[in-house]
Amino acid sequence: MDRIYVAVRARPLSPEESKTTPWRTSSNSIYLHNQPTKFEFDRVFGEDCKTVDIFEARAKEIVACVVRGFNGTVFAYGQTSSGKTYTMRGSEEEPGIIPLSVHELFCSIQEEMDREFLVRMSYMEIYNEEINDLLAPEHRKLQIHESLERGIYVAGLKEEIVTSPEQVLELVEFGESHRHIGETNMNLYSSRSHTIFRMIVESRERSKEDDSANFYDAVRVSALNLVDLAGSERAVKTGAEGMRLKEGSHINKSLLTLGTVIKKLSDGVESQGGHVPYRDSKLTRILQPALGGNANTAIICNITLSQIHADETKCSLLFASRALQVKNCACVNEILTDAALLKRQKKEIEELRAKVLNLTIWRRKFLIYGTPYYRVS
Ligand code: ADP
Ligand code: MG
Repeated sequence: MDRIYVAVRARPLSPEESKTTPWRTSSNSIYLHNQPTKFEFDRVFGEDCKTVDIFEARAKEIVACVVRGFNGTVFAYGQTSSGKTYTMRGSEEEPGIIPLSVHELFCSIQEEMDREFLVRMSYMEIYNEEINDLLAPEHRKLQIHESLERGIYVAGLKEEIVTSPEQVLELVEFGESHRHIGETNMNLYSSRSHTIFRMIVESRERSKEDDSANFYDAVRVSALNLVDLAGSERAVKTGAEGMRLKEGSHINKSLLTLGTVIKKLSDGVESQGGHVPYRDSKLTRILQPALGGNANTAIICNITLSQIHADETKCSLLFASRALQVKNCACVNEILTDAALLKRQKKEIEELRAKVLNLTIWRRKFLIYGTPYYRVS
């Protein structure tokens, strides 16, 4: 049993803000200088840190595990302007977690000489509880379905087969360029929408001519989700006060539900057989396996240490502290294709046949020589 990894990243302050900041950090803890409570995390990254440091602290390993068949998810959480998009997408000068992960994923695949891979990607946004496909802008208001074979999935979401990091990043750009069509206020829009960038990695052992009996065609399928969440400001405030105010478009249902789900999971509700409301929002439903289940998960909590945002920062840190308590358990996702099942059955039949043949030989020997163990001399 593992738990969610939680890192905090403080964005740079102006010289003026630095003079008046009420926050102090020491190694991996952060606290208000006039209060005794310390928030402790796996890592606290200060204003001078580089995104690649954050990537190397945990995300890199999560990506490597995806290549080996484990699901992985990295979230950026925090109020608007705290640096979520900067951390996830980055810029030309400083690439974010998405481009770093994409390069790492293809590098790791190249090192796996014994397996062959098929990689697909999708890119979606959730805005006002509607799922829109960023790779196929005409696919809007998509629905979530669940099946035994595929688990929880977004029906009709375009999945593009990709073969290089450059191709993936071009598709991300394409998706981004279609986000703001018809939107008058891009800032407001992006602060209220979540984006989920997903890479699905399928692999199987390369067939070896001389080893066909041991080759099962077992296919590993795993997903890497990189999530840039909506600004947490209003949702966390109302969530923290336990109110479900009907504020029209102000309330972000997905973010509120994420807060509730993390709270319930951190209280151990699920392990005691209680109800966790994953189904109450699109985001939590899609990311259900990443939150309480089969995935390696990391949350990067983006904050600002400026005086004027102290309340919001405290709310973000409270959310992040709860996430630290959430247990999940990643395992390799291996499925057997029909062909693989047939091969496995064939092998079992051959083994049984060999056993029967062995018995028959023993029986014949017995008939000719009598029992080898109890021969009476
Ligand atoms: P969010 O996505 O959380 O709303 P952004 O990532 O868009 O916030 O960041 C807001 C602004 O601050 C952007 O102009 C971004 O370039 C800048 N910024 C955020 N974090 C950093 C950082 N660590 N270093 C330099 N600039 C940053
Ligand atoms: Mg953003």
